[in-house]
Amino acid sequence: MADGRHLLRAEPADRIARESEVDRVTLEPHRIAEMAVAWEDLAPQDIVATACDLFGDRLTLASSFGLEDVALIHMAANVARRPLDVFCLDTGVLFPETYSLMKRFEDLYPIRLRRITPELTLAQQEEQHGAALWSREPDLCCKLRKVAPLGRALQGYTAWMTGLRRAQGPTREGTRAVEHDERHDLCKVNPLVRWSDEEVWAYVRSEGVPYNPLHERGYPSIGCVHCTRAVALGEDARAGRWAGFTKTECGLHI
Ligand code: SF4
Repeated sequence: MADGRHLLRAEPADRIARESEVDRVTLEPHRIAEMAVAWEDLAPQDIVATACDLFGDRLTLASSFGLEDVALIHMAANVARRPLDVFCLDTGVLFPETYSLMKRFEDLYPIRLRRITPELTLAQQEEQHGAALWSREPDLCCKLRKVAPLGRALQGYTAWMTGLRRAQGPTREGTRAVEHDERHDLCKVNPLVRWSDEEVWAYVRSEGVPYNPLHERGYPSIGCVHCTRAVALGEDARAGRWAGFTKTECGLHI
């Protein structure tokens, strides 16, 4: 696996340090809608740099350490003037490969990684809701282990950045480069929104960004152990998530 540290660039010499403009950014939906139009044609790297400048330490990056997320961390670490605030929703049932990758990123990149855990331990969840809740009521399990913790992870921030892309499926076709997140009343920045699968892979490979080895074993989308399986060649990238249920989203982005 590649080592991305040597590829981190120094801050450009001609970059003029600015005070965070976050206080001047109003979050009314119409302002964010205007920003979405203005940012639509920007390269992902420019969206990341603009968001880092604009929101400063009031910006946090959501990462499940999937391919998009590692690309984003690498991009943001190149332009951020301070350790990058990154959070991961640690459900307690992620793949060992994902936990190893998290540790690797903490060692290699200038990030402050917050591992956000659910209120209930797995044992408490079993006690209150029965064994293997994910196999009976995955919506409730995701609500307890992901959606509620997300709300806590975003408290105190003005904006969050995600790896959402339109090409990831029908539920994500309408994603904009920047959106008003109504549920949390925050600005949500999606720099990779226009990229294809191939463009993400090309970036990760050309920049030498470390990635989850499961991607090369048939797992294009990686979530919790109990709800993720490998997909066959030609199968939809998200077909391996919650197989056997109609569920296609964990509820973080809807
Ligand atoms: S993905 Fe599965 S195990 Fe993970 S929180 Fe959702 S239902 Fe629970």
